[in-house]
This record gives sequence, C-alpha cells and structure tokens, in this order.
Amino acid sequence: YDDRDGKIWMDGKLIEWRDANVHILTHAMHYASSVFEGERAYNGKIFLSRKHSERLIRSGQLIDFQVPYSVDEIEKAKEGVLAASGLQDAYVRAVAWRGAGEDMGVASARNPVRMAIAAWEWGAYYGDAKMKGAKLDISKWKRPSPETIPSSAKAAGLYMICTMSKHAAEAKGCSDAMMFDYRGYVAEATGANIFFVKNGEVHTPDPDCFLNGLTRQTVIGMLKDRQIKVHERHIMPEELEGFEQCWLTGTAAEVTPVGQIGDYNFEVGALTRDIAEGYEKLVRS
Ligand code: PMP
Repeated sequence: YDDRDGKIWMDGKLIEWRDANVHILTHAMHYASSVFEGERAYNGKIFLSRKHSERLIRSGQLIDFQVPYSVDEIEKAKEGVLAASGLQDAYVRAVAWRGAGEDMGVASARNPVRMAIAAWEWGAYYGDAKMKGAKLDISKWKRPSPETIPSSAKAAGLYMICTMSKHAAEAKGCSDAMMFDYRGYVAEATGANIFFVKNGEVHTPDPDCFLNGLTRQTVIGMLKDRQIKVHERHIMPEELEGFEQCWLTGTAAEVTPVGQIGDYNFEVGALTRDIAEGYEKLVRS
C-alpha cells in the first residue's frame, strides 16, 4: 500500500501517496496512541460521513487527545481525497495519531497530534463469503472490559488481539474469528458486529465492551422498520447451537452472511438476504 501513485491528505494538505511517511520515533508506533475510521463511499458520496468524523474526534478524546480538526474540516478533507482519487466507490481511511516530538516516553502530551486520510478501492471484505456465508473460527482472545481499555473508541490498541485472532482464523481456512468478551458472552468479529436470527426474531450482543458500529445501528433501524423484534442482550456461548441465521455488519464487511462458527452451522436465510440487499440499496440511495 505504500509505493503507488495517488494523493493522501496529511496534516492539512494533499501530498504524493508515496511521500506520506512518519518518523520512526512516532509515539503512536510505540504506544498505540492512534485512532482511525473506516468509511465507504458509494457513487461518490461517503455513507454516514459526518458520523464517522464525529466518531474519530470522540475516539481521540477517549484516548486522551484532541484531533486538531473540526468535523467540517475533516468533511472537506475527505471530499478532497475522494475527488483526487477519481473513485466513485472507495474505502476511506482517516487516522489521527500522536506524533514524534518533545517526548519519547509513555507520557507525550507535548507531541503534536497528526492526521491523514487516504482512499482506495476495496471490494467485498470477505470475498465470495459475501454470497455463500463466511466461515468463522472462535478466537482464544477475549474482548477486554471497559475498565481495562476505552472499548468504545476505534483505537489502534484494541486491534492487536483482532489481528492475532484473524491470523489464527485464516491459518485454519476461516475468513474471520468470532470473539467472546471478558465475561464469556458473545462479542463480535475482529472488525464487524454480529447478529443472530431465531424464530423470526433477531438477537445481537449488547455493545457494552466493544464498538457499537454505525452499520450495526443502521441495520437495527432497518429491522425495526420491518417490525422485526431486536433483542440487544448478553448472549451465552451455549446459545450458538440454537440460532438459525447469522450475519456480520461493518463498514468494510457491509452485511455479510455467516455460514459457520466453529462447529455450529447457519443457513443463509431469507432475512439475512433481505437485510444484505436492503443495506446495499440504502447506502446507494
Ligand atoms: N467492531 C470492530 C472491532 C470494528 O473494527 C468495526 C469496523 N469499524 C465494527 C465493529 C463495525 O463498525 P462500523 O459499522 O461503524 O464500521
């Protein structure tokens, strides 16, 4: 991803893609002082763009820094990046981090907060699993308690266990891993929220120790519009056996059916397909 043509917005201006570098003593690289957003543009427009910009600023505050741009400034910057990319459908990555500067210890309040935005083409996050149903491994890593880490931030530090979980899953031929939380309840996948269907009703984990995804919130709204009952609650591992359908939601994942989690199988049923197709329509409308 580094050596290519194109433009990246960095600290207020568009620069050459391959020149968008940082110093090795960047605080974020050593101590994970970084927050980011994953967004998708459809037909030239970023879906829920302002909500993503607001979340980026909030994530920064949760890990103790102020993103040095307003929502309006971030919106303008994203538009510029998208226009420079020439893409209509694109994945947009905004990232803000504590840079190099005065301090090289854990405390770094004097180091500047920096920010960059890039956009590129990114097709279906789970490839052809999008149609057939993804196969998920069960991770040995647990989502941490909100008393351990600010778990509602989209912060780099929370992704260390996600990367390890996903690597382990891929080594077993799975597309992703489902993670339990610190109490043993079902939590989410490594970069997407999870939903289950049973007897025509929907069950999804209460997002009390992981990201309450914007796609998750959108899909809950779609289900309510369809007068389908949604239970946001703690889900025990024993319950997996009784669920009939399952899907993942995320900006990158969109709505992806799940066919298998560990030894449990799910059908790609009518409701899963309806929600996946409905989401596709919504993001383009
Ligand atoms: N959980 C995690 C860990 C994620 O990385 C993401 C992707 N941002 C999500 C859930 C889904 O969030 P959203 O729908 O806002 O993309």
